[in-house]
This record gives sequence, structure tokens and C-alpha cells, in this order.
Amino acid sequence: MMLDPIMSDRGTTAPDPTTGLQGMHVQLSLPCPSCTYDLRGVSAAGNCPECGQSVPDVVTGVIDPLATALPRLADPRAVGDGLVLVSVGLAACAILPLVAMVFAGAAALAGKAAISAMVFQSMVWLAFVITLGGCVLGCWCLRPREGGPLQTSCRRAVGEVAAGAVAIAAGLGMFQAGGTLAMAGVALTTIGLAAGLMGLRKVLLEAGRRCRVFRAATLRRQRIPTLIFATVLAGLLLVGSALAELMGSPNTDLTLGVLGLTVLSVQAIGMAYLVVNTAWIRHDLRQPSPTLDELVG
Ligand SMILES: [Zn+2]
Repeated sequence: MMLDPIMSDRGTTAPDPTTGLQGMHVQLSLPCPSCTYDLRGVSAAGNCPECGQSVPDVVTGVIDPLATALPRLADPRAVGDGLVLVSVGLAACAILPLVAMVFAGAAALAGKAAISAMVFQSMVWLAFVITLGGCVLGCWCLRPREGGPLQTSCRRAVGEVAAGAVAIAAGLGMFQAGGTLAMAGVALTTIGLAAGLMGLRKVLLEAGRRCRVFRAATLRRQRIPTLIFATVLAGLLLVGSALAELMGSPNTDLTLGVLGLTVLSVQAIGMAYLVVNTAWIRHDLRQPSPTLDELVG
């Protein structure tokens, strides 16, 4: 009596990785991850002729059954571009004002008030341009399209990112003016950044299901609720610092200011990770993993 090779394996030993690949060959260009030899035409159940790497292992590493089982996005390239543009825009409004404050503070301490003011103004202006540009272009890319699983989340995301970008632009403008207006500017920028992040999250999670690296990442995957929390905390500390300065308590002013800048620094690192995450998703949306049927035959 002949035993079905698959059935006899089940439950007793680890499944043979070559099962189902016997007699098949790699159909697409597939560089060996160990030695970059192109495995096209090589037996799908065999080994790399150059270095002996197991071809079934390479095949398993390339196909992504989970991503290909999901409904196709109406325009995956535009969604990928939109995610990166919005994340770069939002990261700029978190990172550049921080750099501006630290650099301007250092220049002022060194007695170079003119340079301090110039650097501060140009950094904040740069943040204004990148944030507004990234969010406007990103919203255009993410605009809702008929059909596709992202229609609803894109509509909400575009609304929130656009509202956030307007608040950030106004906030940065006020921040640059200095004085009491700067305090309101920090508050407005904080609210805008939080709104933009909420909008971005709606598309990021749905699109991210189609990206293997993003799904598998634990440490290097940036959680957006944490970023929103850090944004609000940094905003409150900086506004508190400005209030303390107005009320003439320099010690409280300094303590809150340093705490605010510390939280903002951690948040800036998180924003940089978020940009990396959206770049992974963009990559996989542009070059989706082949299905097993496309790869071997
Ligand atoms: Zn090889």
C-alpha cells in the first residue's frame, strides 16, 4: 500500500520543505540571498548551484500568502507614495523645530544672538514648507478611489491630515513670531500633529498588512498612539514652560523646557522610525511579492 507522502508526514515529523515543489522550476528572476546567483530555471526543490542554499527556503522567503490573499488596493503605488509623503511632512514638523530650538539655544548661550535668530527662523520656515508640501501632496496621493478596501479609511485620513497640516502651518507661523504668540503656536502645532498622525494611522495599518517586514517588525515598528501621546506631552510641557516664563518663574520655566525638549527628542526618533515603516510599506506596495504559482511552475 502506497502512503501519501504529505499525509504520512503530518503530525509526526517536520514537513518536508520540498513537498509540492518536485519537478517544478523557478520561473521568475530570483537572486540567491547568499550569493546573488539568479535562480531562474533552477529546480524549485533543489539547491543553489553556486553556494548550495536551499531553493525551497528561498521560495518560502519570497512569497507572501497573507498579502496576496488580501483584496487589491485600487492604486497601491499612490497609497505607498502618499504614506511616505505624509510621514515625511509630519516628521519635519516634529524634528526641525526641535533642531531649531536646540541650535538657537546653543548659539544664544555662546552670545551669537544674530546667528541664533537666523538659524531658528530658517529651520522653522523649512519645517513649514516640508510639512505643508508633504501633507498636500500626500493627501492628493491618498485621495479616495472608487472600489478598493481603502476607500473609507482614505477619505477620513485625507480629512484629518489636511486639517492637521493647516493647523501645523498656522502653528509654525505663530511659533516663529515669538512672544505670547509662540505659545499658542506650539499648542496649535501639537494639535495639528496629533490630528495628522491619527489620519495617517488609518491608512498605515490597512496598507501595512500587505507588507511582510512591517507585519513582522516588533521593535522597529513605530506605534502611532505612543507618538500621539509623546506629541501631546511635549506640547503641554513646552506651553507650560512658556507660561512659567511669562509669570516670571525662571526655574520652573527651565525645568519644563528641558523636559519638553527631552520628550520631543524621543518623539523625533519615533517619527524617523515611522518614516522608515512607511518606506517599507511603499516598497512592498510597488513590488508585491509574487504568488507561488507565478514564482514556480
Ligand atoms: Zn547561492
